[in-house]
Amino acid sequence: MVFGFGKSKTDNKAGSAAAAKPAASPAPADIPQGQMMGLMQDWPLTVNRVLEHAAIAHPHREVVTRSVEGPIIRQTYKDIYDRARQCSTALKEDGVQMGDRVATLAWNTGRHMEAWYGTMCIGSVLHTLNPRLHPEQIAWIMNHAGDSVLFFDLTFLPIVQAIHQHVPGCRRYILFTDDAHMPKDHGIPNLVSYETYIAGKSMDVKWGDFDENTACGLCYTSGTTGDPKGVLYSHRSNVLHTMIGMQPDAIGGGVKDTMLPVVPMFHANAWGITFSAPASGMKLVMPGAKMDGESIYELLDGEKVTTTAAVPTVWLMLLQYLEQTGKKLPHLQKVVIGGSAVPERILRAFEETYDVEVVHAWGMTEMSPMGSLGSMTPEVMALSRDEVVRHKLKQGRVPFGVEMCVKDDDGNIVPRDAKTSGHLMVRGPAVAKAYFRKAGGEILDQDGWFDTGDVANLCPQGFMQITDRAKDVIKSGGEWISSIDIENIAVGHPKVANAAAIGLPHPKWDERPLLIVQMKEGETATKEEMLQFLEGKIAKWWTPDDVAFVDEIPLGATGKINKLKLRETFKDHVLPTVQAAE
Ligand code: AMP
Repeated sequence: MVFGFGKSKTDNKAGSAAAAKPAASPAPADIPQGQMMGLMQDWPLTVNRVLEHAAIAHPHREVVTRSVEGPIIRQTYKDIYDRARQCSTALKEDGVQMGDRVATLAWNTGRHMEAWYGTMCIGSVLHTLNPRLHPEQIAWIMNHAGDSVLFFDLTFLPIVQAIHQHVPGCRRYILFTDDAHMPKDHGIPNLVSYETYIAGKSMDVKWGDFDENTACGLCYTSGTTGDPKGVLYSHRSNVLHTMIGMQPDAIGGGVKDTMLPVVPMFHANAWGITFSAPASGMKLVMPGAKMDGESIYELLDGEKVTTTAAVPTVWLMLLQYLEQTGKKLPHLQKVVIGGSAVPERILRAFEETYDVEVVHAWGMTEMSPMGSLGSMTPEVMALSRDEVVRHKLKQGRVPFGVEMCVKDDDGNIVPRDAKTSGHLMVRGPAVAKAYFRKAGGEILDQDGWFDTGDVANLCPQGFMQITDRAKDVIKSGGEWISSIDIENIAVGHPKVANAAAIGLPHPKWDERPLLIVQMKEGETATKEEMLQFLEGKIAKWWTPDDVAFVDEIPLGATGKINKLKLRETFKDHVLPTVQAAE
């Protein structure tokens, strides 16, 4: 190829006057006026690309699972790919079509990952159910989602036995195990073991080849007021979120890394790691059902894990185990902590005692879920250690692909001055614009911003800091407790006039509920009586740690309970469970 006005270099060197003259530009008529479209390939962003890439580029990279049955199972991305394709064939032969919702009630395991891709890659929607919810809520969510198939782990057999009669639309149950471990007399219709379900099925199945905006995954969140809401991810949003997560200042990682996602696949896609690990070729270690300190340590050490991710409660259990045993973390380089604010003692223990970098992350189910991460800037690293810690305790900075601002009550964007707090708003290609089957639909403001329900400020360097929560929920061990559900049940007590539940700080669980009760005129009750009344109506771990009786529950101007005032009144109340946890 020779550059230079349509003549070769030698021609130009020849020096004729005609040769030195530029050739005429192409006739403008050849070029369309106005907007011009690029000439690049159409490569829909569908998640089958991720596992197809892993099977070709990282076929031998391992996926190691602590199986629910007990033994450690070693697979590769190629194994996961092959078996996911078999799973797709089995689902198709079972009548599962594009758009059908296929649910899972399962831990992080290789089998879960196979069913995950097996479902998504044929255009059906993988609906992860949260097993920590009360069985009645799980049934409600399954009916709302219209699930027709359920994959589940042995651990959750009692839940499925309790709900299957209440979910008439679910016509097929698949237990993530082999025939040898199948329970007898389970009473669940159309139940088959996963190994039998996929055995001998063809791997020759069509993946992808549909619009990148096709629905891909569904995850319900009770992280806002009212009934659980379904967040419906698309293939495009999941692929773009994968790329967001692969940025080095986000979760990052590559072929030299081994990743242990303790954060569950059923809670906001394991922070996208089930996608970003195969995409970047990280070895993946799946913890199965065991998340106690010793079990997590065994995997961190035995598999030489370099990066891991979970909520603070999990890390507290690990740190206690390390303290008791004197063990160290020689392989671990980075721990991503999010879902709740990182307590300073966890941050300092990892960084100062075990030499492991802490990346504090914030996000939401509605954001796929990554929102901001606390990797440090050179400017902050140049400051004193205490200043670095202060920045690390903030909720971090946005990666490319997430927009963030703070607005006041009137919808005006407030300055990024590290002082002015307001409604934390987000935008981006992996942020929800509506909830699944939710009347009224629109959840964005006029400029397309989604209100996170968190109250925060931003600093000039872009660090976000959460200062409060506008939404009426309690987060315990990384999972939501609906204060409204507790209140609604408590006011059903014949002697109760009004009730409120608020979250109070707890060293192990971050927050635990306090139930505040106003009795009817002339009535009295004991704490035990109130707690007994809630028994069986809510999940056991939702049971408030304490009950306080007040003469009057404060109400706001619109008649709503004034939670701010209650939080202020009870700010020094110490829950009876706190001391034992310290
Ligand atoms: P979820 O949708 O269940 O993942 O919950 C998202 C919510 O959890 C956020 O809107 C916050 O209220 C809270 N959250 C998540 N990460 C953090 C964090 N690092 N610090 C404080 N709160 C957090």
